[in-house]
Amino acid sequence: MNFEIPDHVREIRQRVQNFIEEEIYPVEPLFEGGRSEKSEEALRSLMAKAKEAGLWALGHPKEIGGQGLPFLDYVYINEVVGRSELAMVALGTHSLQDSIMLMEFASAQWRDQYLKPLVAGEVFPSFAMTEPAVASSDPTQLQTTGTLENGQWVIRGHKWFTSGANRAAYTTVMCRTEPDSPPHDAFSMIVVPTDTPGYEIVRDVKVMGHAGGHCEVRYNDVRVPESNLLGPRGAGFKIAQRRLGPGRIFHCMRWLGQAQRAFDLLCDRANNRVAFGKELGRHQQIQKFIFDSACEIQSARMLTLHAAQKIDQGDEARVEIGLIKVMGAQMLHNVIDRAIQVHGAMGVTEDTPLEGMYRRARFARIYDGPDEVHVMTTARRILRSYQVGDGWDFGLR
Ligand SMILES: Cc1cc2nc3c(=O)[nH]c(=O)nc-3n(C[C@H](O)[C@H](O)[C@H](O)COP(=O)(O)OP(=O)(O)OC[C@H]3O[C@@H](n4cnc5c(N)ncnc54)[C@H](O)[C@@H]3O)c2cc1C
Repeated sequence: MNFEIPDHVREIRQRVQNFIEEEIYPVEPLFEGGRSEKSEEALRSLMAKAKEAGLWALGHPKEIGGQGLPFLDYVYINEVVGRSELAMVALGTHSLQDSIMLMEFASAQWRDQYLKPLVAGEVFPSFAMTEPAVASSDPTQLQTTGTLENGQWVIRGHKWFTSGANRAAYTTVMCRTEPDSPPHDAFSMIVVPTDTPGYEIVRDVKVMGHAGGHCEVRYNDVRVPESNLLGPRGAGFKIAQRRLGPGRIFHCMRWLGQAQRAFDLLCDRANNRVAFGKELGRHQQIQKFIFDSACEIQSARMLTLHAAQKIDQGDEARVEIGLIKVMGAQMLHNVIDRAIQVHGAMGVTEDTPLEGMYRRARFARIYDGPDEVHVMTTARRILRSYQVGDGWDFGLR
């Protein structure tokens, strides 16, 4: 196993990092208070600059308008993209999972309508699985229904945490279409343009005091053409898994980029702030912050790259992805928490990026499946391999 960044990736990775540090960091404060005319204009300008600099949609397949970087090369790019919350949209990487989902599963009509503008950043996607009324970490319980009536899907239900719905052109809705099938074959994905009558955004749910576009949406007899179905009927779980699998590797790499930024701030403050006659970094308790953070970042990085290599070799790496989802999110949370602590009161103000990073790190332990669900499914998989006599030999994984 070789975890070194390949030579041919270093140059483009450095260019992405420079773009983020020079172009994105200075405008980040504009976005802390939610969306405004100024922030939207700054975002459009960043997107145009990224295109000009040849840094747009680096990981999207070439056939849909991306630059087609191979999976493992793109993994390393995501590490630097993670440094800023804004970078995904500014560099056009935010639509990767949704555009691949459309490319693989949508009818020709929807591919034509959405794929090109999606990859070009002209329209935004959103994805609706979670519902307020049921524990959505067990999606077999979802209650939103889709019924085929006179050649149209009629969708009825109530979702929330549909991130980005308030700026999206469409939402891909997971709904129950096959009530008589076993739970994992009972749900389908249906594309719903957000301007369809009956699609009602109830509110932009505030999370930890901030409106971040995580919308509550009601589906009041929303009618869309039959051809808006993605893939075959009842394939919702398979499509969701296909959407999330490699995406989790990119998430985890971005968390490593966030953690790197927090670690840089932590070390800088430790070297420069003086208390009780010496720099903070010369106090043992702060040295332990640095030691623990270095351990956690390095371990999460090795685990993530290992999982990425397994996926690249065609393995689904479900256990390895479970490990990094949980460990990566906890690592991110811990490192940012320590960086805030050495900044004292300033750490919880908007004078450093740490406050916003901390809020978002907390979300990471919940979205794409809460920690406990990944712990459960990962442990079950390992136990199953013992039950069938294979065991789990780390040396052979
Ligand atoms: C910032 C953010 C953005 C999001 N964006 C989206 C989005 O765009 N689209 C979308 O559909 N959803 C989105 N979500 C929702 C997210 O995917 C769900 O919150 C998540 O799947 C958990 O579902 P739930 O909130 O219903 O929690 P519940 O299912 O009610 O679970 C609550 C808690 O129960 C515990 N728990 C659950 N199962 C087990 C178990 N087996 N063992 C032990 N404990 C358990 C866990 O501690 C869990 O946190 C987002 C969430 C956040 C925070």
